[in-house]
Amino acid sequence: MKEDNKLSRRQVINGLGASLAVAAVSPIFSADAAEASAPTVPLKDPTTAYPKPPFKKQQQPWPGLVSQMDPKPDHGEQSYKGSGRLKGRKALITGGDSGMGRAAAIAYAREGADVAINYLPAEEADAKEVIALIKAAGQKGVAIPGDIRDEAFCKKLVAEAVRQLGGLDIVVSNAGRQQQRQSILDLTTEDFDATMKTNIYAPFWIIKAALPHLQPGSAIIGTTSEQATDPSADLYDYAQTKAATTNYVRSLAKQLAPKGIRVNGVAPGPIWTPLQVSGGATQEKLVQFGGDTPMMRPGQPVELASIYVQLADPQASYATGQVYGAAGGKGMP
Ligand code: NAD
Ligand code: MG
Repeated sequence: MKEDNKLSRRQVINGLGASLAVAAVSPIFSADAAEASAPTVPLKDPTTAYPKPPFKKQQQPWPGLVSQMDPKPDHGEQSYKGSGRLKGRKALITGGDSGMGRAAAIAYAREGADVAINYLPAEEADAKEVIALIKAAGQKGVAIPGDIRDEAFCKKLVAEAVRQLGGLDIVVSNAGRQQQRQSILDLTTEDFDATMKTNIYAPFWIIKAALPHLQPGSAIIGTTSEQATDPSADLYDYAQTKAATTNYVRSLAKQLAPKGIRVNGVAPGPIWTPLQVSGGATQEKLVQFGGDTPMMRPGQPVELASIYVQLADPQASYATGQVYGAAGGKGMP
């Protein structure tokens, strides 16, 4: 019996030879001829690839617009190249007008997904640009503005996304509220409540409404933060919502794994987005933003795009309950 299980050296080599032969004739495993003859991608030094501090002081009224930022963030508009990783998928992304949500929306569309985005009515100008980019990628782009602090709206948002996309299999719960306060004494109950509603209640309402539509193979992705484990002194309310996000990712992943639905999180470090210039950070912090990372600069939203793609990709079928980070070297998510 034991001997039967042992492979002879000859059997192994023959077997290997056969699988290599299959690989050689099977184009499905390799890049096509045009791809193979394309020039190689040049190496890019990540320390000098994007803007570094000092930045200009800048302040926008919340929730802020990409077009008013200096320098303008990079969401992959010019650079993200897809390769069909999400062909046929239907995604809903909250906060899809700007920042990480916009980077995910552009990447998903270029990977072959139809994409619905939610944002606040004040962000219509940013959202229009994203819808145009999704359409330019040859995909359906659906704009659903509205305030996710309202449970009834969250239910409507999901129903509308399902109706207009013709189904749903990726939910990216990414919208977030961050308003710095130097002291807990400056934090009003209204502030605290708005942060909890946006960052904790809304994902609960949206995921609950989406679940009956999600088939096995679907993916839920939450945007959490390095703040979940390394909270800043002036982000008392925000940081605890990110600990909650990391926590729900892990809990829900266990609950939904038997149903074939994966739940994962993305944990960004300091990223150059409207959230930071519309009350998320002090002017002093903005001027030096990201300078305290080993990379000595903030991240750009595009640098997170491939993580959102990876976590939604059906090829990542064994990854659930994970948090993938990108924080310029600051360490764990
Ligand atoms: P962003 O301002 O571009 O995106 C946040 C989005 O949240 C806004 O565009 C807005 O559409 C949405 N939003 C906020 N309140 C809303 C409400 N009541 N109703 C509907 N939509 C609402 O900034 P971002 O940095 O890309 O933020 C995306 C996510 O990344 C957030 O969850 C944020 O907490 C997280 N994050 C950001 C950083 C960073 O340094 N920028 C770091 C870690 C985590
Ligand atoms: Mg925005």
